[in-house]
Amino acid sequence: MVEETTYPPYSQNAIFMRMSQEDRIFFNRPYVNGRETRNIEQVLASRKLSGDGVFTVQCQEFFENSYGFGKTLLTTSCTDALEMASLLLEIQPGDEVILPSYTFVSTANAFALRGATLKFADSCSGNPNIDPASVEQLMSKKTRAVVAVHYGGFACNMGELLQLTDSNGIHIVEDAAHAIDSYYHGRALGSIGSLGTMSFHETKNITAGECGLIAVNDASMQRRAEIIREKGTNRKAFFRGETDRYSWVDLGSSFLPSEITAAVLAAQLETLSEIQTKRVLLWNRYHANLKSLAETGVISLPEIPDGATVNGHLFYIVCRSLDERSEMISHLNKYHIDAVFHYLSLHSSPYFRKQHNGHLLPNSDKFMERLLRLPMYYELSMADVDRVCECISRYYKR
Ligand SMILES: *Cc1c(COP(=O)(O)O)cnc(C)c1O
Repeated sequence: MVEETTYPPYSQNAIFMRMSQEDRIFFNRPYVNGRETRNIEQVLASRKLSGDGVFTVQCQEFFENSYGFGKTLLTTSCTDALEMASLLLEIQPGDEVILPSYTFVSTANAFALRGATLKFADSCSGNPNIDPASVEQLMSKKTRAVVAVHYGGFACNMGELLQLTDSNGIHIVEDAAHAIDSYYHGRALGSIGSLGTMSFHETKNITAGECGLIAVNDASMQRRAEIIREKGTNRKAFFRGETDRYSWVDLGSSFLPSEITAAVLAAQLETLSEIQTKRVLLWNRYHANLKSLAETGVISLPEIPDGATVNGHLFYIVCRSLDERSEMISHLNKYHIDAVFHYLSLHSSPYFRKQHNGHLLPNSDKFMERLLRLPMYYELSMADVDRVCECISRYYKR
């Protein structure tokens, strides 16, 4: 029987197609530490399978205690956490939301679903984070929120963003999907804006398959957050004995994950520090290995913003052109290394381009065309990183 692999060889070169795939370096491979099964069995045995059981509470307390998040609620995904954020801010048609164009669609959908007018800001030149100068240009009386996506786990310039928004009553939502265990001048990402969201999708540093959380740092929104997450009902207050019935009191949806999902996340949290230590080592190894190549000017490396930490979520290089990046992907594939580009600028996406007012976002487009992500996951070895870097260097020596 032919063993099926999840990652088919995509090299067009017949010789390499015949080569063994055992030495393939995957782009991502979710890590499972083995304790997930024990926790899932415990949930099944307890006969309490729906949400908000002991593992959900354990995970939420972990984030509140470790990172100084305000009230934290697990959600079915970061996408749902962002949709909750949009509901919490009572975004309505006519409201404007400023967000980077270089981001995942969920960052935009959450606000578009409530009828917001999206204002896409450019990235910084040295990294894909939202450029505060671009935000300032887009601000108007109708601006209700600015979304800060901490790309690759590196903090946006929160100092400048807070300065711009604070005096105007504009909320900051941190899309911290990449940013677990990362900091801005000592403050955990996700804890700084009115609201913060996180993802535990299998492509993120820790995973429960599909899961996320919302950190409700603004105390005035905490009670509504519980209600929105419970289909717009006051079910939680009812179970606390604060009300004698539970009824429909607000808009809402089903945003809480099952206890089985929370059980997996709780197991992953037990090894979070090992995972983070390893990923940061891998990140530093990439950086050290590729530094001299970057000094020759053929590639550029991530520029770490002032006050930001490395959390090893992803490692990328920026090539000189789109063609060079395409060649590099094929070159790496030939040597059984998977490397992938990332976001397509949302302002020029098939869905949005007709609504876009035509202002140019050159840095967003630069990262769309030239950014290349390299393999990064817990089980990657230092030798693997060396092989990837060696292969990149070889491309430029031809
Ligand atoms: C992964 C990701 C999301 C969505 O996370 P899900 O948990 O898959 O919904 C949102 N924003 C960014 C920046 C992401 O990388």
